[in-house]
Amino acid sequence: MNSKVRGILIGRMQPIHKGHIQVIKKILKEVDEIIIGIGSAQLSHELKNPFTAGERIVMVSQALAEENIHPGRYYIIPMEDINFNAIWAAHVKMMTPPFSIVYSGNPLVKQLFEEEGYEVKNPPLFDRLRLSGSEVRRKILSDENWQDLVANSTIEVIAEIEGVKRLKNLAVKEISDL
Ligand code: NAD
Repeated sequence: MNSKVRGILIGRMQPIHKGHIQVIKKILKEVDEIIIGIGSAQLSHELKNPFTAGERIVMVSQALAEENIHPGRYYIIPMEDINFNAIWAAHVKMMTPPFSIVYSGNPLVKQLFEEEGYEVKNPPLFDRLRLSGSEVRRKILSDENWQDLVANSTIEVIAEIEGVKRLKNLAVKEISDL
């Protein structure tokens, strides 16, 4: 089992977008298998985190199928946040297959894994101003073209779960909660 080189990428994937897909494809050129951690798995039905971990798993697996990435090359694992940053990397290690390389652009994630002795790589960001989860959510809310930022299968999953309606309801709720 340990002869395989595995890398891990942890992101909230709210939702997965074309930047995530490009970085996953790039990582798969460097490792045998990638572990995709669905971060903040416990959160959903919030403007910043509208989709459940289960919905995000479907979005990720279908987006990767659309790219003809064999399911044997990746694991998708929901990762709940914990209150203790100092032991988070150990928590991730406990919940995932063994890995040796951590891919992240998030300074806290990088620091926590580096302190645990992991090799941490900073993958390039693709068109970050446009390709970010917050930009996809903003465009959904303002009826702009968000569909170009995500895989076709993600558009379908969001339609299936009535995700646009959910986000708009959450916007009304969170404004009325202010
Ligand atoms: P994110 O979705 O912003 O990014 C994930 C990764 O995707 C990035 O590091 C980057 O490498 C890649 N990416 C994003 N946009 C890209 C683009 N346009 N082009 C190329 N690559 C792109 O997620 P995040 O906020 O970094 O996720 C970290 C998760 O770890 C969160 O859920 C956070 O709560 C969790 N976390 C938890 C603890 C704890 O529980 N104590 C501590 C640290 C982090």
